[in-house]
Amino acid sequence: MIAPETIQRIMDATRIEEVIGEFVSMKKRGTNYIACCPFHDEKTPSFSVSPTKNLYKCFGCGESGNAVGFLMKHEHYTYPEALRWLAKKYHIEVEEEEMTAEQKERQTERDGLFHVSEFAQQYFAQLLYEDEMGKAIGLSYFHNRGLTDNVIKVFGLGYSLDEWDNFTKHARSSGYSDNVLQKTGLTIFKDDGKSYDRFKGRVMFPIFSVSGRVLGFSGRILSKEKQAAKYVNSPDSEIYNKSHILYGLYQAKNSIAKQDKVYLVEGNIDVISMYQSGVENTVASCGTSLTVEQIRLMRRYTKNVTVLYDGDKAGIKAAFRAVNMLFEEGLHVRVVLFPDGEDPDSYAQKYGSTRLQEYLKENETNFILFKTKVLADEVKGDPIRKAEVLGEIVRTIALVPDLLERTEYVKQCASLLQMPETTLQHELAKVLNRKLYDKTQNHTPDPNDKDLKDTTNGDAESEQQIQDKNDRTIERERVVPFEINPDKPQEVHIVSLLLNYGDLLIPIEQKTEDGNATEVVSYTVAQMIVGDILSDNITFQDRQCQIIFNEYAKCISEGMTHVDTQIFVNHEDKQVREMAITLMMEGYQVSNKWQEDKHIYVPKPEDRIRNDVEESILTLKLKKLDKRINDIDIQFPYAKDDDEKLMLMSQKMQLIKIKQQLGQSLNRVIS
Ligand SMILES: [Zn+2]
Repeated sequence: MIAPETIQRIMDATRIEEVIGEFVSMKKRGTNYIACCPFHDEKTPSFSVSPTKNLYKCFGCGESGNAVGFLMKHEHYTYPEALRWLAKKYHIEVEEEEMTAEQKERQTERDGLFHVSEFAQQYFAQLLYEDEMGKAIGLSYFHNRGLTDNVIKVFGLGYSLDEWDNFTKHARSSGYSDNVLQKTGLTIFKDDGKSYDRFKGRVMFPIFSVSGRVLGFSGRILSKEKQAAKYVNSPDSEIYNKSHILYGLYQAKNSIAKQDKVYLVEGNIDVISMYQSGVENTVASCGTSLTVEQIRLMRRYTKNVTVLYDGDKAGIKAAFRAVNMLFEEGLHVRVVLFPDGEDPDSYAQKYGSTRLQEYLKENETNFILFKTKVLADEVKGDPIRKAEVLGEIVRTIALVPDLLERTEYVKQCASLLQMPETTLQHELAKVLNRKLYDKTQNHTPDPNDKDLKDTTNGDAESEQQIQDKNDRTIERERVVPFEINPDKPQEVHIVSLLLNYGDLLIPIEQKTEDGNATEVVSYTVAQMIVGDILSDNITFQDRQCQIIFNEYAKCISEGMTHVDTQIFVNHEDKQVREMAITLMMEGYQVSNKWQEDKHIYVPKPEDRIRNDVEESILTLKLKKLDKRINDIDIQFPYAKDDDEKLMLMSQKMQLIKIKQQLGQSLNRVIS
């Protein structure tokens, strides 16, 4: 909804070093700033911020982008949220584009729901500390559970008085309509016109969005009323959908990203308890069993999830299904099992935070092995149950995308189950076969399913190989891509010249039209490169290089003299984006010969670059020629008759001739 002109003004005003400087402490080094990367753990700084290019890049983990990208990644903002953040910082008024009447109405209603939720959260939090009953009942409950005032504030906890309509009355007198009270579920309206507070007499756990807005509540009863449910939650509404939300994510997200790991627990109070014990990267599913949406939400921050179970066998087995979903979404799953009768909260209360942290570290185990152990214990001496368990474990192993990992699991699980490895291999092959078959049967191309092709190949390979007696060396060889691109350094170098020096004007002496005199004409580096590559019909083998070149060439052929390289920085293709940013951050690398012979005269930048442009293109052309000559040599023995042989020969001769000419030009350039 932000007008394009406004976006442009925001981008123009934005200085990346000022934006990142608000989150990371940086040191100046040359024209750039360096810092320890906020996205991965490191002791020596490899995170670089370039004010001139308005880009950042971490040479440790590869994260890179512009200021908007940084905010989206670091603060987990959406694109418009990041823009609004920048607009606020640089005092730019954001004129939202006109909304339709319907959009406006929805917007106002949503706003109303947000406002009343926030209002309620503040009211409940205030009662906890300022009302006599709030202090006596609510606050003392939290204190008895060992929570500090600081943590109570971080999680915005509160208390709703044990009166029928205390909150509803207060909200109405503050101007909130019955409509928003009903839609958020804070007030329950009966058919006879009566209304009362949903959360009467409960301690309140507000549920926050990722960016910290109050969406709903979970309330725990304190009195011993028999009919009341222990926990009551907000109903789903326009702003609150419990299957899409993780409790504690707002408070945990930075820690999750930093530790590259999330702990998944069962209850709200476990999340808070873990947080207070210094394990801040903890979330819980909001009173539902884990959903795919919640898993994907987690995956935005990390791929490593550790599930914490309390030591109750029935509970553990019920949770196995949820863990299979984690695997299916490509997460790495570990498990910590608490001693019988303990959960994270009770453990922290009993033994303190240091012991809790140690316990987590020492007892973390791989999920598949954990599951196998639990099930194997159960079926000792029962061959029928053992076969069932085998099937169940193999189905979980089949969810692991990595072949080597799967092979390792087969080995370890076989030993735990006291079965021959070949039995498991056989079962696994059957499951994988089945999966492969299903995939090919209902293959509907899905643009979102990028992995489809890869996993299919992986599966096909894996069975064959597992039957190939698990020869690891063979497997490793197959993993290595068999076709590498020998032209890649040259292709990348040319693209780097385009991105870094595309606009630079190079004066070139050439004959006048009548041929009697010489004149100096200036071309941009981009014009020289694009013209030369297109006229010789050269294609890049590297996909990203080809995409950048094509889009750059398109701009040049449309007559643009300046190509805004931000189109590559913001490119929709992640790999293209990364290549462009890397090349721009690394800057132009001086051609080898200037680096090797440091004592030689180094020409002016324009001359040096002109030289480099010519050298790079000639070198690339020579390489492409070599490949074509080589292709002919390969084809030659298969020629079907003498005519074809003759044709191939003459083609080859021609190519060799061109190669000699190019070689001479190159010698001129580099001598
Ligand atoms: Zn990094």
